[in-house]
Amino acid sequence: MSVRRDTVERKTVKFVVPSRTYSALKEELDAVYFDVMAKGALIDREHLKNFEANLANFVGTKYAVGLNSGYDALHVSLRAAGIGPGDEVIVPAHTFVATCSAVVNAGATPVLVDVADDFNIDVTKIEPAITSETRGIIPVHLSGWMADMPALMTIARKHDLVVVEDACQSLGSSINGKGAGSWGLTGCWSFYPFKILGGYGDGGAITTNDEEVALYARRMRYNGEDRKTGEYHGHGFTCLLDNLQAAFLDVKLRHLPSSIVRRKAIAGRYRDALSDLSDLTLPHYTRPGFDHVYQNYTVRSRQGNAFSEYMKMNGVEVLTQFRKPYYRHAALKLVDRGFPVTEAISREVCSLPMAVETADDEVEYVIQVARAFYGK
Ligand SMILES: *Cc1c(COP(=O)(O)O)cnc(C)c1O
Repeated sequence: MSVRRDTVERKTVKFVVPSRTYSALKEELDAVYFDVMAKGALIDREHLKNFEANLANFVGTKYAVGLNSGYDALHVSLRAAGIGPGDEVIVPAHTFVATCSAVVNAGATPVLVDVADDFNIDVTKIEPAITSETRGIIPVHLSGWMADMPALMTIARKHDLVVVEDACQSLGSSINGKGAGSWGLTGCWSFYPFKILGGYGDGGAITTNDEEVALYARRMRYNGEDRKTGEYHGHGFTCLLDNLQAAFLDVKLRHLPSSIVRRKAIAGRYRDALSDLSDLTLPHYTRPGFDHVYQNYTVRSRQGNAFSEYMKMNGVEVLTQFRKPYYRHAALKLVDRGFPVTEAISREVCSLPMAVETADDEVEYVIQVARAFYGK
């Protein structure tokens, strides 16, 4: 199996090209940059407040609180819920490590649960993991596709558990029109550059309908201080979303609906061109009411590394998160209770280039290389 070089001209396809998105939005981004700089509006100013209002509106919650990262959003959410030492929190075995680290750093114990074939927490495995110490669940909506929230919320209500949504990869996704990040006590967001709404550095936020939680997060992100009275309401953190980042994110949020349309178009093209390859499982699921926004286009190849290495060798930058599951890293001291689906996914995953700035001819090249690997 090799690329027929007489018919395929070799290209390089990057996973993301941030400079292209900048070129496309240059006028608007430059304008807010100059506005922020001219006003010297650096910390907790109008751009942050505007972005928070627009984000809450987009997600469908009353409040949004800008923080320094998705990790901070998770950590502050758990603390706002009063979760700490002695408490157990259920997290998926297949996620970015920060989901789990937030639980550990809040002083609680993570209890890992395997995922299903859609990469999200297997809701049938949640109840067997609940003990008398369980206080919360963190469903992760991976790659732009939401966890089964209707089923999960029913379990949470039955056992009186707090739900903190790790929605870091799914801004704009929804189930029956109800947005990711509006189901649980909080929705946690990351604006790390390569997320669906990416900033120009780190950033994050909490969305919530709970006024107390919003107030708690506003104080804790600023060392526990109520900025109006100067009163400290607890030992807090320094984890405020920068006003300049908020200004950039507000511009990009306006373009998010059209960028989701573009992502869906790329996903549709991959589906049309790759679905006959029986050793390649594509991330398309049929669940009425569930909307996929394709933050990532993660395929599973039965050939694992052989497939991903072939893609790279032929100039296609792919991601193979997370070949070694986080719970297998010894220093994290986590309990591996055996997670067969996570293990299989970890061997097989390969995320193809899927960014708003990925061009049509690049998508076609990715398709050609993937097909060539399978001798097609
Ligand atoms: C990116 C991400 C995080 C952490 O976000 P940061 O902003 O990098 O701290 C947490 N969970 C998931 C699922 C993520 O993808």
